[in-house]
Amino acid sequence: MDLDLSSVEPFRAEVRAWLREHVPAAPLPSLEIEEGFAAHRAWERELHEARLSVVSWPEEYGGRNATPLEWLVFEEEYYAAGAPGRVSQNGINLLAPTLFQHGTPEQLARVLPSMASGEVIWAQAWSEPGAGSDLASLRATATRTDGGWLLNGQKTWSSRAAFADWGFGPFRSDPEAERHRGLTYLMFPLDAEGITRRPIGRIDGKPAFAELFFDDVFVPDRDVIGEPGSGWKVAMSTTGNERGLTLRSPGRFLAAADRLLELWREHGDPADTAMRERVADAWIKARAYRLKGFETISRTEDVGAESSVNKIFWSELDVALHETALDLLGPDGELGGEWLEGYVFSLAGPIYAGTNEIQRNVIAERVLGLPKAGSR
Ligand SMILES: Cc1cc2nc3c(=O)[nH]c(=O)nc-3n(C[C@H](O)[C@H](O)[C@H](O)COP(=O)(O)OP(=O)(O)OC[C@H]3O[C@@H](n4cnc5c(N)ncnc54)[C@H](O)[C@@H]3O)c2cc1C
Repeated sequence: MDLDLSSVEPFRAEVRAWLREHVPAAPLPSLEIEEGFAAHRAWERELHEARLSVVSWPEEYGGRNATPLEWLVFEEEYYAAGAPGRVSQNGINLLAPTLFQHGTPEQLARVLPSMASGEVIWAQAWSEPGAGSDLASLRATATRTDGGWLLNGQKTWSSRAAFADWGFGPFRSDPEAERHRGLTYLMFPLDAEGITRRPIGRIDGKPAFAELFFDDVFVPDRDVIGEPGSGWKVAMSTTGNERGLTLRSPGRFLAAADRLLELWREHGDPADTAMRERVADAWIKARAYRLKGFETISRTEDVGAESSVNKIFWSELDVALHETALDLLGPDGELGGEWLEGYVFSLAGPIYAGTNEIQRNVIAERVLGLPKAGSR
């Protein structure tokens, strides 16, 4: 691996200068409440106007054709500047790569520009009450009708679906077919007739998380991604992105580890070697993840099953980092503030994007070639 970053320094300098000028002085309200959602949508527009909302996309869709290395550098600068969380992340990180792989030219031209500008915010509608880890057991249906499909059933745990504009996910279109076959991947407006959205209470009390109910919701053929019946294949091309680098890039943890180090300088007791080691451990792991990111993109663009290793690493690091910060702050940390909020959210990391137990199975079977769980 060649770790010469000099070629990306001009890009880094441009991004840093823009962020210094534009990142809001006071943090925006949480993107999990209505007011914060709108404020973050406006921020997406501002990023887009500077062509910084989707740097790695082709120019025709609002990007600037940035290389994976430039993208990693962008992310480092973004988080180091304390810029707002990305309310567009499900669209940009999950739907867009899926469309690049399976979408038609018409879908790319129609969907991507408004996603890049924040005009349309997307929610992922995969999970169902009986289909989380075992997604292939999903039961919400898509039934053929004139010119399209009728959706029925329920989806759940959909991040920010209470305020988002459109959703995407797999539906069972052939009940007779094997579990992994007979699924069709569709996009649908969340204000379509027949959709009911119900916010689900989260541990932090924020209302954006939602479950969705479908009652004969019409979706035209043009909103099917890939071939009808090939929804499993389409969905699987998304999961590598979700678990791999794009959902949680190293920049996020580098910035958090630097803030932890500052916290230790302010509150730490140099004689407390155990605490010092925990801080150093988080700081080193954030840098190790950065190097792993460089190594990955220098070798491949398709992270594949290895993304499960990343997913376990970043989610466990996030919990450890926030726990260490709260222990440093002592009882004060429990009264509120960014570390407490970050801690509560970090607890979900080992669950969303596929639980860590399932990722360990994936590593055992697909990376290490061990026998399937439950087999002898
Ligand atoms: C904050 C948050 C945001 C989310 N956002 C979205 C979203 O935007 N869109 C969306 O569609 N979904 C979303 N999800 C849902 C998430 O993907 C699921 O919660 C996850 O896939 C687990 O599914 P489940 O909740 O049904 O748990 P289950 O599948 O019921 O699992 C329960 C427990 O059993 C374990 N388990 C299950 N099967 C096995 C096995 N074979 N071997 C070992 N252990 C096993 C699991 O690891 C887990 O610990 C979100 C979840 C959270 C917490």
